[in-house]
Amino acid sequence: MSFPLLRKNGRIQIGKYDVQDIIEKYDSPLYIYDEATLREQCRKIKNIVDLPNFRVYYSAKANTNIKLLQIIRSEGLCVDAMSLGELQQEEIAGFTKDEILFLSNNVPPKALEIIIEKELPVCLDSLTQLELYFSLSPKKPAYIRLNIGTAQGHHTKVQTAGKVKFGIPIEQIEDAFTLAKKYKQKITGFMFHNGSLFLDDTIYLNTINDMLALAEQYHDIEYIDFGGGIGIPYNREQQEPFPLDSFSEKLTAKLNAWMAKTKRQPIFAIEPGRFIVAECGIALATVQSVKQNYGVNFIGTDLGFNMLIRPEFYDAYHEIIHTTKEGIFNEPMQIVGNICESGDYLGKDRYLPVTASQDILLIRDTGAYGFAMSSNYNSLLRCAELLVTTQGEIQLIRKRESLDQLLTNQIYS
Ligand SMILES: *Cc1c(COP(=O)(O)O)cnc(C)c1O
Repeated sequence: MSFPLLRKNGRIQIGKYDVQDIIEKYDSPLYIYDEATLREQCRKIKNIVDLPNFRVYYSAKANTNIKLLQIIRSEGLCVDAMSLGELQQEEIAGFTKDEILFLSNNVPPKALEIIIEKELPVCLDSLTQLELYFSLSPKKPAYIRLNIGTAQGHHTKVQTAGKVKFGIPIEQIEDAFTLAKKYKQKITGFMFHNGSLFLDDTIYLNTINDMLALAEQYHDIEYIDFGGGIGIPYNREQQEPFPLDSFSEKLTAKLNAWMAKTKRQPIFAIEPGRFIVAECGIALATVQSVKQNYGVNFIGTDLGFNMLIRPEFYDAYHEIIHTTKEGIFNEPMQIVGNICESGDYLGKDRYLPVTASQDILLIRDTGAYGFAMSSNYNSLLRCAELLVTTQGEIQLIRKRESLDQLLTNQIYS
């Protein structure tokens, strides 16, 4: 399911309101999320395995808006945290220590001490961090992140297995258990996450097989986590969605077979981020210039890569829709933002209706890694975030930043 794109007299409606009225009230650019879509995605993913010992940890780095975290929690999902900042927002959203998994990725001792104090389960990503964890005398045993399987994902920047910084390679697994013995501690969980944004389940299922085979040999393992990475079809004309139904059947069968064979009942978990929040979100941008430079057509908007970096950072595709005009102009347009860098693209070679200054464009599927990766580059202000409730009302869920906020931590006289 994705953000509902309904038109009335050819104009996009956001909940009960016309797109123009929304921009007038909340200013441009904007991030907007649809509650019904978010809930639907939570339910879909939660139901992929119908076992009491199956858990879904929403990977909060994709979007940490507290209101969205609250909705996700109300759908019965757990959450992962990779920093004290994520943890803080999750706690405010109501997640309890049994609903949070902390994943270490080069976490300093002081932060790890706080996590241990809170008695959160922790998944360690290197032997160094594992030893640090054990040395701090935690009450909880450790989980470890293993670097196994074949890397996958839409871009080398999101492939997280093989010769990348993540996880403990298989050949060091015995060293991990030796460390545990040295500190009279235990390792009771295995996790892997081998990439982000895959739409084919073949490699994922193979890695799940490898993980299950490995866990079979280690009898202390009572937590088995298959990470995140399930993709969404950003380019609906060229991509098929992830085959959730058949994946669900295969995964359920595998887990049941494993439990029957081993007579063990571990917690099985997955950690999707993008799948849960990407499609419920859109961004709105207002056109500020239309021009042709040496034969190339540019549409300049107020949405720069400080607010949506995926096209620039990953060469990612986002569908771009004109909100008040329909039809197609037959020349390709370059849709760009307001950052002083020539790589500041939202979309390349797009066909849109004839577009004028102050027209509003809608960028689809921006709920994941959109606002979450934003910055103040060019000293631009982060925009507001809105929620369309299930009743079609608009709720402001994050204010636009103010110029004053840019000065808060600067020291000058
Ligand atoms: C980023 C990340 C995820 C979520 O990835 P998605 O592609 O958004 O599903 C899950 N687990 C870990 C460890 C991650 O780093």
